[in-house]
Amino acid sequence: MSQTSNQILKNTGLKITSSRMKILDLFSIDCKPINAEYIHQKLKKEKINLVTIYRTLASLELIGIFKKVDLQKDSFYYELAGHHHHHIICTSCEKIESFDVCDVDVISKGILKKSSMFKAIDRHSLELYAVCKTCLKN
Ligand SMILES: [Zn+2]
Ligand SMILES: [Zn+2]
Repeated sequence: MSQTSNQILKNTGLKITSSRMKILDLFSIDCKPINAEYIHQKLKKEKINLVTIYRTLASLELIGIFKKVDLQKDSFYYELAGHHHHHIICTSCEKIESFDVCDVDVISKGILKKSSMFKAIDRHSLELYAVCKTCLKN
């Protein structure tokens, strides 16, 4: 992260509140998709209620600071929007690795050729699921 949470908030024009700062800080530290419950747990001492966390996540997603990541779990995960990347998620311990390689454009071209309804792809998301090396050993 080159920008501090303070700078990010300043650029949005949103009011800089301590809960917004703390939540943003977590994203910069962790650098992986996290959900509201995780934030709630991590910021226990700050006594930020879940509703505030949900609202903060939603409003920062709306203005493009966060990106929603659907990991096919009960709740939505968020991460800092930035460069294009994808995830591999361990189905056993839920560890997440990010990777930059993206050949989806190539796949899309083939799909569009066969599609009778669509002419172009605007965006995509791609998450891969596997059992990590550590879990395979156990
Ligand atoms: Zn694992
Ligand atoms: Zn991609």
